[in-house]
Amino acid sequence: MSKSDYPSSVPVGVDTSRASIARVYDAFLNGKDNFEVDREVLARVQQAAPQATDLAWANRDFLIRVCRFLARSAGIDQFLDLGSGLPTAENTHQVVQRINSDARVMYLDNDPMVLAHGRALLAENDKALIGTADIFQPLEVLENESVLEHLDFTRPLALLQVGTLHHYLGDDSAKLMQTYIDALPAGSFVAISHFFDPQDPQKPELSELAAKMEEKFIHSPMGSGRFRTRDEIQAMFGDLEMVEPGLVLCDDWWQDGPRLQNLSPVRECIVGGVGHKR
Ligand code: SAM
Repeated sequence: MSKSDYPSSVPVGVDTSRASIARVYDAFLNGKDNFEVDREVLARVQQAAPQATDLAWANRDFLIRVCRFLARSAGIDQFLDLGSGLPTAENTHQVVQRINSDARVMYLDNDPMVLAHGRALLAENDKALIGTADIFQPLEVLENESVLEHLDFTRPLALLQVGTLHHYLGDDSAKLMQTYIDALPAGSFVAISHFFDPQDPQKPELSELAAKMEEKFIHSPMGSGRFRTRDEIQAMFGDLEMVEPGLVLCDDWWQDGPRLQNLSPVRECIVGGVGHKR
């Protein structure tokens, strides 16, 4: 193991011998808060898809653009960010508080490393808070004391499930999301991004790539990463009205400017969208 596998302080509860979703994602984003076991997952997925890190970058850039849209164009000032991940450049609270310094953000995650780094980062920000809950147990989240104290469920808010639901292996993800949607006040928004199996008869190689990546993720020490179909992912929005351009490749959701390069095949295997509860 290299020296970087022994950082000066490994937060309590962090098991450096087992891969974690948050640390693997950090490795994909070229961060520093990951261990050999996490980088091994990245290496395995890269065997199937050399450009695998594009999955994480497409996702993260989508999150940033969605947050800008929600805070600026939609005027949302409360954010429930489920599965926040390890702090990196441009986290949700930084994006939205630059637009509205009063915006409140509640992060939830179940990874001890995320909680330790998140608490340190947010120590002096009384409008952004991090807590712990299982985000795939909506009632646990909706009854969480910190969530209820920090956010006002009588006013519109944004619920973010960005880069999370592909780690839910059950077949009832639409039902899970419906419980969240039912609890949201009118005017709220839901953002989801998800690994995608395009099932495009014109491009069968993309489904093969998605299947290969899924196999590597699920049989890795991390153990999750499902590539679902358009219908399966769309169903997670229930009957919310989709904000234009709908459920599309993450890279196609409100691009920052003209595209200068073709998308890598990996970037065609992750989609995102935003739904609005009227
Ligand atoms: N949302 C961030 C983004 O899009 O950049 C981070 C996404 S990261 C791939 C997924 C995050 O979800 C990780 O930080 C992981 O710890 C968290 N997570 C996964 N399953 C969870 C669960 N059941 N409860 C709480 N957090 C979970």
